[in-house]
Amino acid sequence: MAEQHVKHSDGIVGQVDGQQVPRYAGLTTFARLPRLEDVDWYDVAVVGIPFDSGVTFRPGARFGPSAIREASRLLRPFNPALDAMPFRDAQVVDAGDIACNPFDIDEALGQIQTGIAGLAADGRPFVILGGDHTVALPSLRAVRDVHGPVALVHFDAHLDTWDTYFGAPVTHGTPFRRASEEGLVVKGRSAHVGLRGSLYDRRDLIDDEELGFTIVHCSDIERLGADGVVDRVLDRVSDTPVYVSIDIDVLDPAFAPATGTPEAGGMTSRELLAVLRGMSALPIVGADVVEVSPTYDHAQITAVAAANIAYELVTIMAMGRRP
Ligand code: MN
Ligand code: MN
Repeated sequence: MAEQHVKHSDGIVGQVDGQQVPRYAGLTTFARLPRLEDVDWYDVAVVGIPFDSGVTFRPGARFGPSAIREASRLLRPFNPALDAMPFRDAQVVDAGDIACNPFDIDEALGQIQTGIAGLAADGRPFVILGGDHTVALPSLRAVRDVHGPVALVHFDAHLDTWDTYFGAPVTHGTPFRRASEEGLVVKGRSAHVGLRGSLYDRRDLIDDEELGFTIVHCSDIERLGADGVVDRVLDRVSDTPVYVSIDIDVLDPAFAPATGTPEAGGMTSRELLAVLRGMSALPIVGADVVEVSPTYDHAQITAVAAANIAYELVTIMAMGRRP
């Protein structure tokens, strides 16, 4: 494999060379980057978590990692919006998938936490390709062990701070209540962005505030604009280590139809990418892009959005790893 990858001057192995092997050819890794086992060291890891045993409505996010990787083939080495060459300036790798038990959620959470803890050792940043939103909980547990509690910036149509569903405490609708209870996130330093749609009760919002979150409602985004949303986020998180969790359903179903619990009236992919770029100076220590359920996709609309979102996150992390 390695002879097909672009080699940079300081030993960094980049993408498979698009001038030698067409972008639609060859085995699939994220952005055609080398696998973890193909290099001696890395700065940023991309890892799949094909787990969706925590979903409450449409299943299928277990197929998200492979769909996002397939849609990432067209990602090129220069990110003009951030004036960065993420695959030249940092060693970015595809760490494969964390295998986890689809029949035992507790065991799966342990497997995910162990997998992320291995990748995030020494504080190295990572991007998860989900999987349903349940995976954010073991990811945040692993991050807490390395960095301490983090500021959470959570893009989602939903709060995901509900208590239980059918009596179950760990589902894709509960990770951030558990995270707040366990002290994984810093109360008063965390935010949801993009909330919309129907709730169970007004109490959902009150509980959420008591758990330490603030909300940028989707209905405010048109008035605030991307810059205004960025200002709200930057005010909130300060200089705390930041974890970014992106449920693809924060995008309108027009931009992300392939997801488990779609809600009308969401962000455009252009708005979300602009907000992420506005966060490029933050110390982002980990991130996830979750809830892509490709069976419901058309022409890779959702998977392409997710791949480009992951690219922005990887770029920001790569910029932070090199002077
Ligand atoms: Mn959601
Ligand atoms: Mn979610």
